[in-house]
Amino acid sequence: MIVLGQRKLLQRLVPGLVHAFIFWGFLVLFPTIVMATIAAVDRESTLPWLGHQGWFALMVDVFAVLVGVGVVTAAVIRKVVRPARFEGSHLGEADLILALIAGIVTTLLLWHASRIALGLNEWPASWSPVSKGLSTLFGEGSATRALERVFDWAHVLIILSFLAYLPHSKHLHIFTAAINVFFGRTRAGGRLEPLSFDAPDEELRFGAGTVADLTWKQVVDTFSCTECGRCQDACPAWATGKKLSPKLLIMGLRDQVFAEGPLSLAGEEVSPLVPNAVEDEVVWDCVTCGACIEVCPVSIEHVDHIVDLRRHLVMVESRFPSESETMLRDVERASNPWGKPQPERAAWADGLDVRVLEPGDEPPEVLYWVGCAASFDERAKRAAQSTAKLLQAAGVDFAILGPRESCTGDPARRMGNEYLFQSFAQQNVETLNEARVTKIVASCPHCFNTLANEYPDFGGRYEVMHHTELLAELVRDGRLAPAGSETEITYHDSCYLARHNDVRTEPRELVAAVGQPIEMKRSGKKTFCCGAGGAHMWMEENRGKPINEERVREAAETGAETLAVACPFCTVMLDDGVRQMGKQLRVVDVSTLLAESLDS
Ligand code: SF4
Ligand code: SF4
Repeated sequence: MIVLGQRKLLQRLVPGLVHAFIFWGFLVLFPTIVMATIAAVDRESTLPWLGHQGWFALMVDVFAVLVGVGVVTAAVIRKVVRPARFEGSHLGEADLILALIAGIVTTLLLWHASRIALGLNEWPASWSPVSKGLSTLFGEGSATRALERVFDWAHVLIILSFLAYLPHSKHLHIFTAAINVFFGRTRAGGRLEPLSFDAPDEELRFGAGTVADLTWKQVVDTFSCTECGRCQDACPAWATGKKLSPKLLIMGLRDQVFAEGPLSLAGEEVSPLVPNAVEDEVVWDCVTCGACIEVCPVSIEHVDHIVDLRRHLVMVESRFPSESETMLRDVERASNPWGKPQPERAAWADGLDVRVLEPGDEPPEVLYWVGCAASFDERAKRAAQSTAKLLQAAGVDFAILGPRESCTGDPARRMGNEYLFQSFAQQNVETLNEARVTKIVASCPHCFNTLANEYPDFGGRYEVMHHTELLAELVRDGRLAPAGSETEITYHDSCYLARHNDVRTEPRELVAAVGQPIEMKRSGKKTFCCGAGGAHMWMEENRGKPINEERVREAAETGAETLAVACPFCTVMLDDGVRQMGKQLRVVDVSTLLAESLDS
């Protein structure tokens, strides 16, 4: 559907239709290439059967015109409208390709027209109104006979030039895009492919240091980029003036593959990808929000490239932003990125009578995975307290692991420290399996994503829900009965919840149950990051505008008085943004809104 139906491209109607016209046109017109080649050798011959069909001649006319319309519209978009997403793309090359396509359909129509004028058409002329109309431009004499040869040969030669040029241009995607889409991710959106540290030496891989380390899918990714700039347009890093453009990143990698791929295949030494193909800052600007992957029409997986570059920098070269060193050290030393003592992990639940699961205890119906942020950050703790109260009010049998819960390893993994992540994954899976846990509810979308999508790779298979999913279920079942209000609430979708894991309906059900929802311009799968993902919670944002302020601006534009969130990182980032911008917005987790509505 993505390739044949042009599904992703059609999300933007006009440019999508332009591409669809050209793409579908070439599928339909493919047999005419064979017909023109046969006729170039023998004017009186054509493809058996198909060359004589009126309906096919009609389709050729229709699609040749649609391709022509597509080419003209594309030229207007590129030359007159000039959208920012094309910044950095190879525009001259695109112009040449458009000119070649225009040449192909023009010579095709003129060739058919001249054949009709000469009475050489094997198909009934009445079926091809455009060619028939154009045939009136020609007489029946020797000039038309010569022109018929010129159009046919010109058609064939332009196609051959097109085919010869393609492998050296960005339009290589014509060959590779369908393959890339076919082998695109079927796994959960937020899951990263684990590295195997037990592999034999020759297969060991510590991310991507040179072109030799790229997987075959990553190489095909680079060949498949159409330079459409949709990813760049959606990228919060680019939108706020950072160096990272996912499009330029993929183009940089492709240039390096072209330049050094043959050397690598010959076993010769090749240069590092960072900083030769991609600058250091670009690698660290990414918040792993996945907006680029979501919009890419050819299923390029930018986050996997970026994390692989980080893995090499962190694990092989120990090269990463200095401020994140503290976070990595704290995760390693204290089992949480806040660096707080583990015995304080359950302090948020003091006085709430929450069961802390001890070794050997009977497992609860639901294990509440609190996460480091809600355990240690003062603002985020509130969501954990609200969730616990709500579960108690609904009579859910739940417990927490308390000091036995550790960081899931998510920030270390997104930073590129796969080794550290895997040691935490193994330790947590061991604890959960020993405790015979089967169902988990997590407050943090990052923990939720790791537990649900990444721990199965380490033997941890559980039913994992986000707290908004469980709370919505309890409301639906009548176990919680919130009171509505007139408060206008705009809900911010967390990238790891809405985009990576498709949880969009349940938080909205809760918001609608307690107030009056107002959507932001970018919501659901098109949400705009709060700026904390990809371990950015612990990195300085010292270039461009802060991402969180951009999101707060959009939230404030709705006129809502409350900005609801469902992620502790979003809570902290957006609350910081509100304070820095002096906006009158209350940033609050959906669970707290629900708990307040029950109290009122
Ligand atoms: S994941 Fe987000 S921040 Fe990273 S390149 Fe893609 S759109 Fe940009
Ligand atoms: S990576 Fe995908 S979305 Fe980005 S420019 Fe290339 S084809 Fe377009």
